[in-house]
Amino acid sequence: MTQRTLVLLKPDAVRRSLVGEIISRIERKAGWQITALEQRTLDRALLEQHYAEHVGRPFYEPLVEFMASGPVVALVVEGERVIEGVRALAGPTDPIAAAPGSIRGDYGVIVRENLIHASDSEESAERELKIFFPGRV
Ligand code: GDP
Ligand code: MG
Repeated sequence: MTQRTLVLLKPDAVRRSLVGEIISRIERKAGWQITALEQRTLDRALLEQHYAEHVGRPFYEPLVEFMASGPVVALVVEGERVIEGVRALAGPTDPIAAAPGSIRGDYGVIVRENLIHASDSEESAERELKIFFPGRV
């Protein structure tokens, strides 16, 4: 089952120079391909679209502020079961609950600054890819 997913290396990953480390983990999975990659600083309008499901939650405003606080690296990754697969590499949302060996488990401490976003379903992936790479995927 070949899929596409949107991955964001969040501003904390860029600031901490963990981009190469995280991309390597994705690249090493057999058969997965990075088919687009771009570093950019996200504006509020785009983040409001991306995180629409979280509007009104207590963590929403600080999350949007954090995600706009510096550049992110956005990637499209394609391959076998890549949606579930990148989520497994990332680990659960709370980095302290994430197992060592996962990206969040190895490098994260606080919930907001958990290094990586990855689409959580085929529907989310298609929606998010259109937001980040309009006309290109
Ligand atoms: P994800 O799919 O694992 O990234 O998690 P969610 O979609 O539930 O939340 C989106 C992002 O909001 C997370 O990656 C965190 O950066 C942040 N977040 C989620 N839940 C919390 C929370 O309870 N507290 C804080 N501070 N941030 C949160
Ligand atoms: Mg999510």
